[in-house]
Amino acid sequence: MAMNLLCNVQTCRKPLTSTLWVTSCSHSFCEDHAKTLSHKNIKCPACGTLLGKRFDVIRQNSNPAEEFKAMLLVGLRPEIVLDIAMRAVSFWNYQVEQELKYQANSANQLLETKEKASINQTTLMKQLALAKNTIAGNEKQINDQKSTIKFLKSALSHKDQQLKKMQHGLFHTKSKTQDIHVTNSETEDVHFRKENTHNAGKKKVFIFEPRISSQRNDL
Ligand SMILES: [Zn+2]
Ligand SMILES: [Zn+2]
Repeated sequence: MAMNLLCNVQTCRKPLTSTLWVTSCSHSFCEDHAKTLSHKNIKCPACGTLLGKRFDVIRQNSNPAEEFKAMLLVGLRPEIVLDIAMRAVSFWNYQVEQELKYQANSANQLLETKEKASINQTTLMKQLALAKNTIAGNEKQINDQKSTIKFLKSALSHKDQQLKKMQHGLFHTKSKTQDIHVTNSETEDVHFRKENTHNAGKKKVFIFEPRISSQRNDL
């Protein structure tokens, strides 16, 4: 596949398959970017060379007709034909060299990007390993805490059982104590009643009743 020149504006790089514009400073441009070259004393968009002379910028056809090729150099002396051909080939070589430099630079940039990506990947892998270790540590702590909670639950259950036993014992003790009090109260009451009954016949009961009404009648 035949190589085509490219527009030397880096943001364009359009393949120049038909009409192209070439400069005396060995640069080529597409129709769109050649518009700025149509005035006198203009600078080359690629290298900044001043292009003010008549043949500093010319329009070329990348696929000239056979008739044009047959007649273009006819009549010129061979050394002039060779001189023209050498200049044309030199222009082409320069363009190929520039393209190779561009490709090499692009490859280097890709390699740098790849290395950065590789470094980032290494960093990410390290961070991932650290995160895994942290997760493992956290899981161990959680398991330890679960074991502690289980132990505490078991101890609490045991204490609860002990408390229930103590409450049960206390309830029985209270019940017995109350029974004793009731029995004692009943016994004392019986004794008291017996005593009163016994003393009732011996003691006299005095009832004081005022006689005010009868005294007034006497007066
Ligand atoms: Zn262009
Ligand atoms: Zn230039």
